[in-house]
This record gives sequence, structure tokens and C-alpha cells, in this order.
Amino acid sequence: MCEMCRQNSIHRFGPSRRSMLFGAASTVGLLFANVAGAKEMKTPPKPQNVLSPDASLERLMKGNARYVEGVSLRHDFKHEREALASGQNPYAAILSCADSRIAPEYAFDSGRGDLFVCRVAGNFANTESIASLEYAVAVLNVPLILVLGHDSCGAVDAAIKSLKDDTTLPGHMPSLVTGIAPAVKAVSQQGGDTLSKAIRQNVVDTVAKLSSATPILNAAVEQGKLKVAGSIYRLGDGRVDMVS
Ligand SMILES: [Zn+2]
Repeated sequence: MCEMCRQNSIHRFGPSRRSMLFGAASTVGLLFANVAGAKEMKTPPKPQNVLSPDASLERLMKGNARYVEGVSLRHDFKHEREALASGQNPYAAILSCADSRIAPEYAFDSGRGDLFVCRVAGNFANTESIASLEYAVAVLNVPLILVLGHDSCGAVDAAIKSLKDDTTLPGHMPSLVTGIAPAVKAVSQQGGDTLSKAIRQNVVDTVAKLSSATPILNAAVEQGKLKVAGSIYRLGDGRVDMVS
């Protein structure tokens, strides 16, 4: 974790609250409690971002509706920057594909400090993204993780072709194939539009993986502090459809 993130966590929450997060995350709480020292708890920089899991999802979907209709809000970045200089409390985390046509902050009409976004081609969960999301949940108290796939995903398409033709992609790209392969294999015998089915299955699998990720995310889900949901972004009109 970079120093800026560490400092954000210090100002965002005091030690007593973090150490009470949930049992399995107590180590994380203690870690940040030690870092925080005797600093006082401050009001979240964005009080409107303190939401329940369902309210978080509803806010995302309302933002997407504005984006689709072309009536996105005008965001005051200057004042948002100032408010967020000493802390952050995003209201949702997004695990998105790295595709340049997908921009979660635009797609959900969100401002600075609203979304904690992790991106990797193929939007699957690896160790680093799970760790990042654990931080979002255990330290920043994010109530929702939304997995955001999209139609015509090149990473999923490349994984399908690599597995079908038994070819190896150059460089480090085989790691993407490894991450997406379980979804491709699950739908490979179903016929029809394999790409669309694999994209959807990859989202479903990733939601399941995150929901059951021990010891932090699964505990938060079981205690009702966290919801993990899946969705697919439609390139043509920007609409986000829920799949789980
Ligand atoms: Zn993609």
C-alpha cells in the first residue's frame, strides 16, 4: 500500500472502529490501528457515501441511467479535490475490464472519491485485485463490490481462441488466459454464442470467488456488511445489465 493510501486510512477511520470491523479482519484492523496511533476519528469526507449495500447498488444504477440518457451531472472537481485531500470513503468498489471503452466513473456518473476501481483485462479476480478489494472493504468500509464485464470483450475472446487452438499468447498474456479459462471451459460445450456466454460466466464466477474469498470478504458478506454483484456493460448504449 502506498503512503497516500495509508494516510487516507488514518484520517478516514479511527482505530476503535476498524478493530471492530469483523472478526476475520481483526488483523487488518489492528494493523491500521497501529498506524493510526492516537489520531482522532474524523467525519467522512463524503458523508453521502455512507450507504447500505442495496442503497449503493441503487445509486450506481441511477447514475448509469443518467449516463445512458446523456444527462450526467456536472461534477465540481475543484471542491471534491479539496474535500478528499485528507481521506476517502467511496460508496462502491468496481472490478472492471481494462478496456478503454469502459470507464466506470463515467458509466455510473460518479465523482472523485466515489468509486474504488480495480481493473484488469477480463475482469477476473486475482490475488492482487482481491487484496485491493479487501482493503476497500475492511479499511474503507465499502458496502458493495460490482464486477463489471462487457460485451465483445477482447480478453475473453483471446482466451477462447487460445484454448480452442491450443496456442500460447506472447509475453505475460497467458496469465489472462489462465484467469478467464474456467469460465470458457464451463460454457464451451453449450454451443451458441460462446463469447457472450463466457463473458457472462466469467462475471458469475468472479462474483462467487469474491463472495467466498476468505478471510475478509466472505465474513463481510455473511454479516450483511457487503454485497457482491455482477453486471455487464453494453458498449452500444452504455447500459449496465445485472447478471447476479
Ligand atoms: Zn474486456
